[in-house]
Amino acid sequence: MLYDLIIIGGGPAGVSAGIYAARRKLNTLLIAKSSGGQMARKAVDIENYPGFEKISGLELIQKFEKHLRKNKIDIERDTVGKVKKIERGFSVSTGSRKQFDAKAVIIASGADPRPLEVPGEKEFIGKGVSYCTACDGPLFADKEVAVVGGGNSGFEAALSLKGYAKKIYILEFSPQIKADEANQKLAQKSGIIEVITNAALKEIKGEKFVDSVVYQERSSNKLITLKVQGIFVEIGSQPATSFVKDLVEFSEEDEIKIDPQTNMTKTSGLFAAGDVTDTKWKQIVVAAGEGCKAALSAYEYLQRF
Ligand SMILES: Cc1cc2nc3c(=O)[nH]c(=O)nc-3n(C[C@H](O)[C@H](O)[C@H](O)COP(=O)(O)OP(=O)(O)OC[C@H]3O[C@@H](n4cnc5c(N)ncnc54)[C@H](O)[C@@H]3O)c2cc1C
Repeated sequence: MLYDLIIIGGGPAGVSAGIYAARRKLNTLLIAKSSGGQMARKAVDIENYPGFEKISGLELIQKFEKHLRKNKIDIERDTVGKVKKIERGFSVSTGSRKQFDAKAVIIASGADPRPLEVPGEKEFIGKGVSYCTACDGPLFADKEVAVVGGGNSGFEAALSLKGYAKKIYILEFSPQIKADEANQKLAQKSGIIEVITNAALKEIKGEKFVDSVVYQERSSNKLITLKVQGIFVEIGSQPATSFVKDLVEFSEEDEIKIDPQTNMTKTSGLFAAGDVTDTKWKQIVVAAGEGCKAALSAYEYLQRF
């Protein structure tokens, strides 16, 4: 079957594109590897999405998804492995070896957490290494943990872990902390969060599960071992674009370049929206708006197809 439109991503950009596409009666398939994207991983409340003074990321994305499912749209939980140009449009293949074709595609795959790339990281994913405090925090009740990254994300992660862990280290590479003053004060007040600056993480160790991390004190070059059972990675994110390398152009930050008017990439019929693009501001309300723009542009494109 040939869909009119395939949307890749189930975050705010993909969901909003899905709602608009369905309302324009496009025969649409939305493929997302997980529900919610970054909002589901967010540990603290969202206080800047209009209509909701304070709501958890998970609750907000559940509302988005409920709204999407009220419309006529096919949804697949799968990971897109490749998008290829074919004569009739595009062919999208997935991790579970399925293939779907469509006349147009919207990429709304957002951003994945940036990995540490140190020995032990890959080996211990799910065995102490986590990229999601909101998902995995409760697994570390009464344990000692480290959060890598001293920005707002790192501090927010540490603050959300204080309900579970008995001791939390924040390891920051630079000599200065980048998190807001308010977050720093809350961490100080907690009594169980210890901030270590100038710390370059070198290795994650353990037998079956993580039992320690090794970092280099950058001022003295000394290697120091911290006994921790959990390590939460909060060093930023990177656009999720591995499946579409040859059909689009990239910015210096590896974001997909789009025409800001239409959200079209360099390939006709291939659109992109949200955090995966070179749009300047990365926010939920912006991603939802960009998803809308991409869907309406795809509709216009399909009228001439
Ligand atoms: C810690 C943190 C706090 C934040 N706080 C706020 C805030 O308070 N307010 C605010 O407005 N914004 C906040 N943001 C930013 C906001 O979360 C993002 O701007 C928004 O989620 C971007 O939406 P998106 O749809 O572009 O991408 P994402 O939310 O990243 O969604 C991407 C979707 O694509 C899917 N996907 C990725 N790769 C593939 C693939 N290969 N195959 C299939 N599916 C795939 C994912 O599973 C997901 O469903 C925060 C972000 C973080 C990390």
